[in-house]
Amino acid sequence: MYPSELKAVPSVWVTWLAKLMADELQCQWSAWFRSHYTYEKLPSNFDSAQWKARHRELLNQRVTCLEAEGAAIFVEGENWFEVLGRQHSIKVSGKPDLVAILGDDAWVEDCKTGKPKDADLYQVLLYMLLVPLSVERCQGRRLEGRLVYPDSMIDVPAGQVNAEFKAQLRETIATLSNPTQARKVPSFQECRYCDISAEYCLERVESKSTDYGSMHDLF
Ligand code: SF4
Repeated sequence: MYPSELKAVPSVWVTWLAKLMADELQCQWSAWFRSHYTYEKLPSNFDSAQWKARHRELLNQRVTCLEAEGAAIFVEGENWFEVLGRQHSIKVSGKPDLVAILGDDAWVEDCKTGKPKDADLYQVLLYMLLVPLSVERCQGRRLEGRLVYPDSMIDVPAGQVNAEFKAQLRETIATLSNPTQARKVPSFQECRYCDISAEYCLERVESKSTDYGSMHDLF
């Protein structure tokens, strides 16, 4: 087995933070472990080629549309950022799909090929908060947000990056940056999508329980 190695500085991706903050990831330990260690990931059966093709098509449509409106467009790697906080030793990284600037207006868009999820909203809110802290062309700007789906778009007003959201982010960052391990919540529903093998996580649930207990008269 590839041994897990402690990172010099813990690091977390915006996508993990978004899932935790949206309560779409109950096993905090999985994000905590990924933040603190490098490890050999389990192979995924996710069809990334098909996903990438669909995502690329959606993103290209938005680029064409926004360029026609006269906006300056920056995509993916051009928007990559890394933010290091003062209070907690942890880096937060992200790569928004699209940042557009038109005069005094600036906004960040994220393209999603699946159905809308709460984590999508948290992800774009995190970009709206963190991009102006780190990407030079956006510094000092108040970013609006937009979620782009194949059949719809959802605008995310800048005002949603409020004190309550920031407090929730600080709480999540405190959990992930803490040297004390976060709470582990093993369940087949999450473990089957988790890339942390049983070599690192002894509690990993590999199969669905078919133990329904004894029959009862409740219903
Ligand atoms: S395998 Fe399951 S219990 Fe272990 S870290 Fe992943 S989600 Fe959590």
